Amino acid sequence: MDLLYSSTRNGEEKVTASKAILKGLADDGGLFVPESIPKLDVTIEELAKMSYQETAYAVMKLFFTDFTEEELKNCINKAYDSKFDTEEIAPLVEADGAYYLELFHGATIAFKDMALSILPHLLTTAAKKNQVNNEIVILTATSGDTGKAALAGFADVEGTKIVVFYPKDGVSPIQKQQMVTQKGDNTYVVGINGNFDQAQTGVKKMFSDKELAKELDAAGYQFSSANSINIGRFIPQITYYVYAYAKLYANGKIAKDEKINIVVPTGNFGNILSAFYAKNMGLPVAKLICASNENKVLYDFFETGKYDKNREFILTSSPSMDILISSNLERLIYWAAGNDAKKNVEFMTALTKEGVYEITPQMQEKLKDFYGNYASEEETAEAIRTLYEKTGYILDTHTAVASSVYGKYKAETKDDQTTTVIASTASPFKFSRSVMDAIDPKYDTMEEFELIDELSKIGNVKIPNAIEEIRNAPVRHKATCEVDEMPRVVKEFLGM
Ligand SMILES: *Cc1c(COP(=O)(O)O)cnc(C)c1O
Repeated sequence: MDLLYSSTRNGEEKVTASKAILKGLADDGGLFVPESIPKLDVTIEELAKMSYQETAYAVMKLFFTDFTEEELKNCINKAYDSKFDTEEIAPLVEADGAYYLELFHGATIAFKDMALSILPHLLTTAAKKNQVNNEIVILTATSGDTGKAALAGFADVEGTKIVVFYPKDGVSPIQKQQMVTQKGDNTYVVGINGNFDQAQTGVKKMFSDKELAKELDAAGYQFSSANSINIGRFIPQITYYVYAYAKLYANGKIAKDEKINIVVPTGNFGNILSAFYAKNMGLPVAKLICASNENKVLYDFFETGKYDKNREFILTSSPSMDILISSNLERLIYWAAGNDAKKNVEFMTALTKEGVYEITPQMQEKLKDFYGNYASEEETAEAIRTLYEKTGYILDTHTAVASSVYGKYKAETKDDQTTTVIASTASPFKFSRSVMDAIDPKYDTMEEFELIDELSKIGNVKIPNAIEEIRNAPVRHKATCEVDEMPRVVKEFLGM
């Protein structure tokens, strides 16, 4: 029997994994969730011997049950190959008593590569399985990293086109340069005059626009999403938590069944949701530590049970976490409400209408495995500087938020004995300006690429290919638009 997926906003409609991957978002605007979370069916001894690719199969076969073994292994092998600069794919690095799980060894040196290198293959396989003849148009809003990772994943993949919207003034110079130099005739990159939430809301609107869907269908197209709301994103991400746990065990760092903490620098709540799923699959996890930057909606939520997006939007040095509506949280809310779509709809309607909802104390009780905190800009910079001075290891700004929050967690709870994995979500080279400023203000006068050379020197790490590549690449995408022009821009690109 296949594991089926239903929408967080409607308990009735049930679809296979491949259909859920194809659709991205459910028709009612809800997110697809599996009817139940399957348990891992391999032992820790078996896991300890597995490669990243084998671990990925052990996890994904439980969720994507309508894919054949051959199909799934094909997708995995096409995704986790030499695009990654290490065979380990996601290495663990110990620094100052914590384990940094480096999720930035893929094509765009950020953690989005972990899922976006496999999504195009899951998607085209799912299309074939479901006799879809339309060309798939990937529509993505990005706060920086998703965009490039999606572009890199989909560029020149047959049967797909991809349109990426980014906030014109809300991404780092390197992030922008990476996107606007993207090759591939099926790619289109547009800067919007607005912030990430506006870009994401604009994309969501297009997804639920039935008229637009009809027009597209007539022209031989259909939308799909590469955003972290797609189950083809957050399910593959479960892999690296299982893999990290197994590596800790294999290397004698933890005993059998010993619980670990996981710290995740969080924005849209996709990455930490994957860790939550790993725990529910039976991985021994104690606390899920949710780290926010100054846009601390999630911290306030875990403290009070009240989600309130009505606040100033702050541009920080960790732009991929500058988010006021964490879309994937809906999956957790739905779960905490006892998989009750009706209740979830009430919360989500309140969020849309008033920008606020408050969960019940019973629901709050179910979320006690989560610990939330945040780091200010100063604390983030301090985390980079102190770890560098102590160990020589250089964190990016997002990971530094997590590192700082982990420090707060230890100070507050006195839990400093539990082995802890910190998701390291980007290479410091991607945010070299903020990283180098944090280490020493004297770097302030240097040009972007001078900084990169200097970072390589002082951190004793090789400059990643992803950076070398864009040094002299020509700009291919210059388009910008207003938020309400997004549908027109998409149609123009598709020649409609
Ligand atoms: C996307 C991103 C995050 C946030 O991940 P979510 O899954 O959206 O919570 C954190 N750090 C970096 C570098 C990212 O690119």
